[in-house]
Amino acid sequence: MKGNIGVTSDNIFPIIKKFLYSDHEIFLRELVSNAVDATQKLKTLASVGEFKGELGDLTVRVSVDKKKKTITVADRGIGMTADEIEKYINQIAFSGAEEFLDKYKDDANAIIGHFGLGFYSAFMVSKEVEIQTLSYKEGSKAARWICDGNPEYQLDEMDKPDRGTSIVLHIDDDNKDFLEESKISELLTKYCKFLPVSIAFGKKKEWKDGKDVETDEDNIINDTTPAWTRKPSDLKEEDYTKFYRDLYPMGEDPLFWIHLNVDYPFNLTGILYFPKVKNNIELQRNKIQLYCNQVFVTDAVEGIVPDFLTLLHGVIDSPDIPLNVSRSYLQSDSNVKKISSHITKKVADRLQEIFKNDRTQFEEKWDNLRLFIIYGMLTDEKFYERAEKFALLKNTEKKCFTFDEYKELIKDNQTDKEGSLIYLYANDAESQHSYIEAARNKGYDVLLMDGQLDIHWVSQLEQKFDKSRFVRVDSDIIERLIRKADDPKHALTETQKNALASLFETQLPSIEKMEFSISLEQMAPDGQPLVVTQNEFMRRMKEMSAMQGN
Ligand code: ADP
Ligand code: MG
Repeated sequence: MKGNIGVTSDNIFPIIKKFLYSDHEIFLRELVSNAVDATQKLKTLASVGEFKGELGDLTVRVSVDKKKKTITVADRGIGMTADEIEKYINQIAFSGAEEFLDKYKDDANAIIGHFGLGFYSAFMVSKEVEIQTLSYKEGSKAARWICDGNPEYQLDEMDKPDRGTSIVLHIDDDNKDFLEESKISELLTKYCKFLPVSIAFGKKKEWKDGKDVETDEDNIINDTTPAWTRKPSDLKEEDYTKFYRDLYPMGEDPLFWIHLNVDYPFNLTGILYFPKVKNNIELQRNKIQLYCNQVFVTDAVEGIVPDFLTLLHGVIDSPDIPLNVSRSYLQSDSNVKKISSHITKKVADRLQEIFKNDRTQFEEKWDNLRLFIIYGMLTDEKFYERAEKFALLKNTEKKCFTFDEYKELIKDNQTDKEGSLIYLYANDAESQHSYIEAARNKGYDVLLMDGQLDIHWVSQLEQKFDKSRFVRVDSDIIERLIRKADDPKHALTETQKNALASLFETQLPSIEKMEFSISLEQMAPDGQPLVVTQNEFMRRMKEMSAMQGN
């Protein structure tokens, strides 16, 4: 029988070839996920008693025949009758998946397809596509559909003893690369590594007598129950670290993880890991993999998750993240936006929980976590509000404090005349060593702010904290702090000060006139007899103009 594919335009295939997917390789993802869908549907029918036959071996098989120039994806799922081919294949954009989901809402295993265009992606790489299929329905006749990329197709009966569908792609000359075993293997690993039905690609090979020998065992390329799909209560710490190593074989063990499991107001599962980041944000980005019902969608997640979360590693899986669409669509999708703010909340909750339950561990890992948390606080107001409770300030003695604790620590001892709290900080413990010592000898506490983002963090905290100023430890403000135990015998007289000032002006020309003050410090064992300080405001101005290249 001949027929015409039910589309309005004369021929949509050129359009499909060029524009539907920028990436031709995803044809394999689409066909394998259809095969998985068909298998899951059969399992669903069996579980509700509508299919009473033998399920048998449900493995999906992918094979390449280099001589015939074909790629075949074969499943043992529900198959299609000729009528169903008419309906589901010939009427483009009529998504069978959606209809099926409507009917079996509560029992349906997750179905991947959404848009009814996935199948046609096969034409991106093929000059001819063939469907051979036998429905699970009793008394069905097997059918063969062949189409060479025109809206005209051929549909006939055929002999096919096995239930299920084989899609045979006759690869066109421009796409010969896909006939390489290594290419298909690479694509299966990329897109199908965690699909819920076993996928076989050829047979396992064994190293014997100095060469690879094929065994009878299927080469299964996927893990059907990856860690994120299992219940957190069934997983041990090793399972999480092992899964991390599956994802990033070269990585160091992660610091923490969050097992996401949301079913309202949208479905989302996943595991996010806090990697051991040192000081290089750029290198670490884009390790999160986005899945839709265990099918890999993308690992370019900017715009999909908040910027600072792109520093995390792991997997997010949501059937509500549409599979068949472009990135710009994803970024504007309202579901995707909701998902993103929800993940932020979950991440903050988890950090809060670890902080509360195991503060020692949290403090130990702070140096690795800080970059991530500070970046989050700087770029996401909501995250800041949550992180206020667990973000830590670390002083030069390596002690950690929450914001509230630190305020409590310095509130009686570190204020200026106007009553503002003065947070002293060093950004280079080595070169500012003598200033730190001097401040500590006076009984002040000094924060260490030497991280990559700390300059920005200091400005943020200064704005956020009421009546507070952050002052670098080598600034002159330290001289004017109001402290409880002032010791007049160590103060210099005005005449002494002026004499010393002119001495230093001649000896230290790099410090500009009027911008420093001197004080005589207590002689601590390793203390310094004298410290020269600079005007904080002038220093900041100078540094800022230096940063702008003036
Ligand atoms: P979607 O998967 O989004 O529904 P596709 O274009 O990928 O859209 O597939 C269209 C329809 O064709 C499917 O919904 C399904 O009904 C049918 N179909 C495709 N592949 C198979 C298969 N291997 N077995 C059974 N039915 C299939
Ligand atoms: Mg599909």
